[in-house]
Amino acid sequence: MFKIKWDIENNGIILSDYIEEKDSLNSPRPVYVEELKMLGLDKSFELPKENVAVCWEIDHKYYYYGEVIAETRKGNIYEDPIVVVSDTHFNKLEPINLEKLVENNNDMIQVAENEAMDFIKDMYESYKDKNISGYVVAFSGGKDSQVILDLVSRVIPAGNYRVVFTNTGMELPCTIDTVEETRTFYKEKYPEFTLEHAKSDKKAIELWKSYGPPSRMNRWCCSVLKTALFGRKMKELLKTDAQPKLVVFEGVRNDESARRSSYGRVGEGVKHVNLISCRAILKWNVSEIYLYMYKNNVKINPAYTMGLTRVGCGVCPFASDWSEYVIRKRYPEVAKSYISVIEDMAKNIGITSQHKIDEYISSGNWKKNAGGKGLIPDESRMDIITKEPNFECIVQNPKVNWEKWFSTLGEYFLEKIEDDFFKGELKFKGSVVKFEVRYSENTIRFKAFGTTNKIILNSLLTKAFTKTAYCELCGVCEVECPTGALTVRDTVEIDKGRCVHCNNCFGINTKGCIIATRKMMYEGGKTMGTATKTSGVDRYSTFGLREEWLTSFFDLLDDWFSENSRLLGPKQIPAMLNWLREAELVDLKEKKVTELAKILKPVYASNPLLVWQIIWTNLSFNSSIVNWYVTATKNDIKYTKNELVELLKEDYPNLKGATLKNPVDALVNTFVNSPLGTTDAYADDNLKMGLLEKKGASVISVQRYGTSKVSQIVVAYSLYKNAEINNMYELTVTDIYEKGYMGVSNIFNMDSESFMNALRGLTTNEVLSADLLGGLENIHLASEFSSFDVLKRLIRKI
Ligand code: SF4
Ligand code: SF4
Repeated sequence: MFKIKWDIENNGIILSDYIEEKDSLNSPRPVYVEELKMLGLDKSFELPKENVAVCWEIDHKYYYYGEVIAETRKGNIYEDPIVVVSDTHFNKLEPINLEKLVENNNDMIQVAENEAMDFIKDMYESYKDKNISGYVVAFSGGKDSQVILDLVSRVIPAGNYRVVFTNTGMELPCTIDTVEETRTFYKEKYPEFTLEHAKSDKKAIELWKSYGPPSRMNRWCCSVLKTALFGRKMKELLKTDAQPKLVVFEGVRNDESARRSSYGRVGEGVKHVNLISCRAILKWNVSEIYLYMYKNNVKINPAYTMGLTRVGCGVCPFASDWSEYVIRKRYPEVAKSYISVIEDMAKNIGITSQHKIDEYISSGNWKKNAGGKGLIPDESRMDIITKEPNFECIVQNPKVNWEKWFSTLGEYFLEKIEDDFFKGELKFKGSVVKFEVRYSENTIRFKAFGTTNKIILNSLLTKAFTKTAYCELCGVCEVECPTGALTVRDTVEIDKGRCVHCNNCFGINTKGCIIATRKMMYEGGKTMGTATKTSGVDRYSTFGLREEWLTSFFDLLDDWFSENSRLLGPKQIPAMLNWLREAELVDLKEKKVTELAKILKPVYASNPLLVWQIIWTNLSFNSSIVNWYVTATKNDIKYTKNELVELLKEDYPNLKGATLKNPVDALVNTFVNSPLGTTDAYADDNLKMGLLEKKGASVISVQRYGTSKVSQIVVAYSLYKNAEINNMYELTVTDIYEKGYMGVSNIFNMDSESFMNALRGLTTNEVLSADLLGGLENIHLASEFSSFDVLKRLIRKI
């Protein structure tokens, strides 16, 4: 609000309107003894015994009487910052005289607080007659919300507003203590004062594991752990089913972030259609916040005396390196469990060495994850088969009953034709849409007729079945429902009498569900790299990838989507879709074949084994069961199916019965029905990924025999695929044969001599270079090429 300059005489600061630009400071924050000790500055300076404010900080420089006495550089979640002590004559630091500080700034702070209280009063009065359900202070336990609460408490009678602390379960322990002390303090002062916790019944760490760590682009945590909890709490407090209209006093300030710098002082319906955000201290700077707290004896959260500049969750994608350093120093236990989830994600995207995982975390790369890359896929998914002329989709292992979300589209009726087959009609925006639903084990196949050019209907059907497949009951949709028709607790409940089919609950994002956004981006996106050790293996029922199916896929290509129900049974279609998706031959999001499939079609006609090598490579990266098979089995052992099931169980301890047996059957059936498997170790017409011992039609054992006759094209393709995941563009032949590397060594059991011969051939093709003479074994890949570029380039030369 005001400009700031040093008060050199008192080791303080002065707020004023009349400060020349050259003397104006960038809002210093007071620094306490505890922070200086953490930095080891007690070795350079004699410090007061008590944890009191002694100096000021601006941009990592520490000022005492206006002079820089030390500065910090770098530092992050794993590394302490470098502390550079200035050449200064100060060797003993005395406490800042807070009384003097307040006295010297009393007038200016008085101006700021009066202006803020006038604003609060004005908001309170002006919204009184506007059909408002109540006034709320959104309290976080941080300094800005402390100030806003104190200001509101001085203006509005205690019984006329509520204070709600949204307890995400990720707060620092000192914040929880501060909240309780705040409650006690104001309760003593104003007996009618109330402070409520809006708390989730699900643990934040479990949500991290399930949804994946939040990122800067996908902050599901704010929606799930703040907005949804706040909305539910207000409905509960105000005893209403519909979302109440509220005036919310927030401690938001413009100088907190670039995003907040554009906020207005009053935001009607900005955060939520029913919320009016009032930001009384929007223009205050951080120094003014501290001065107000000193002047009015407002409790300071100890996190600030430790050195934190903002108080929020223990681990946050928006936290600075500095915050992460301070939290690790002071609360190592808080961050540990969340860091371990990030580590698991890193492993799932193929980062194998601890050194690289640490780098992934300390560099903040995990914060850039746009989707759910690295999430463990589960068994639920939704695939659209066609959108026109009929909308048709398959939902495997739906998370909620399909009728729940579907019912929000309009009134409908269902007629049972057979036990597993229903027909129905949906009234949708003045027209009637006929549809049918077919059930099979854990799968529903939905078809609506006559959807050509019905863009809105198509979009809403897509969202309804996406939500059906992926809804994890996070509760975010509930706060969007204007009528109270929707409640999301242990399941989704739609009160049909109240639902006005407004589709607000579909407007969360482009998928209609924040969880689906993460999971679907992952499924449709990059490869998983090395084995994921939980679920996602049982995707094919017991159906293998059959040669005849692949042949008809390449024959039909774009027409395959409309023709597949003629060729395959209802359970075979989802299995084949999963094989094709993981082989990167279809893009189920776009509901079309991929560029790779188009390029491989002519190759399949002339050299099908090369195509099978490429498919096996993609499956090794993308399919949990194939990935497991090439990494967990040994090539010199013959396994019975039961032994494979037992072995799989070791890596997937949570799976039981059919979910363990099905994927093994699907894998073995792939070997039986495609050139990936054979009974003849000497035959040249197959890849021997599964060498089968058979008795009649029964398979007695399977051996991951493999071949060294791997095409140079596939050698290069696999190197680039791995490089895309692990950023390994410079590597050695030894690396390829290291445990944990996903490449031709374990995908095909290719021996190193054949591999080096392939490398020599590839060097002449200019997609890579290799130094293999004189005992050298270095491989250099070109980071500007993608694996697909390399494949295209080499296939063109065939
Ligand atoms: S948001 Fe609209 S469509 Fe969704 S449940 Fe509520 S009233 Fe129905
Ligand atoms: S549909 Fe998605 S956003 Fe809505 S409650 Fe379910 S999980 Fe949350």
